Amino acid sequence: MRLTIVGCAGSTAGPDSPASCYLLEAEDQDGRMWRLVMDLGSGAIGPLQRYCDPARVDGVLVSHGHPDHCADLGALSVLRRYGPARDEDLPLIPLLGPEGLDRRVHEVAGDPDGADMDVFDYRPLAHSDVTHLGPFTITAARARHPVPALAYLVSAGDSHLLFTGDTDRCDEVDDLAARAGLILGEAGWGTREVNPDGVHMTGDQLGRMTAEAGVESLIVTHVASWIDPQPTLAAVRRHVPLACLARPGHVHGF
Ligand SMILES: [Zn+2]
Ligand SMILES: [Zn+2]
Repeated sequence: MRLTIVGCAGSTAGPDSPASCYLLEAEDQDGRMWRLVMDLGSGAIGPLQRYCDPARVDGVLVSHGHPDHCADLGALSVLRRYGPARDEDLPLIPLLGPEGLDRRVHEVAGDPDGADMDVFDYRPLAHSDVTHLGPFTITAARARHPVPALAYLVSAGDSHLLFTGDTDRCDEVDDLAARAGLILGEAGWGTREVNPDGVHMTGDQLGRMTAEAGVESLIVTHVASWIDPQPTLAAVRRHVPLACLARPGHVHGF
């Protein structure tokens, strides 16, 4: 499996990165390459076009309905309906995510009766659901966040990636972490010491979660776009020495 970091800025797009967006690629048994986009946060539809044709991706997997994770679903719909592929008879794009994601697309578009969902085949997911898309097997787990949110274990062959989405530390995500070979984990609270419950992890919490799961490969993401991520990385590395920061354009094969 191949992971490309499209955007990794936490909470808003930043000067050097769009908000949350990742491209996963894996071949099926017939040698066909499948492309799965994880999250499509604010600003991501632009640079995503460097790595693939967004109108032709095989699916979009969304962690939750905050704008830094889903705002550009509307932009993808516009690109598909009015862009170069508009007259082609392409299949609907599978859209996988928590309950209510279809309403969020309409809310972002500002038109409750609009056509923004027409290009998607929406498949709501809930805790412990397992679903298949080409070579990918996707297992969902309830995350701890102020809105319905899911973390995902995405597997293809012997590769297993945990994407935490946005979450405070919780048993459900810990259980998925124990099955992962690589963790793409959020540290939205950075090095802040006093934080509200049930929103994000600090770098220290993310490092502890990863170490306790016995996972050595960790990409730290969703550090707020307005802070220096290095102190957060240092906090993570006290538990996971090989951890690295997500950076736009970086490709990780695993
Ligand atoms: Zn977020
Ligand atoms: Zn969020």
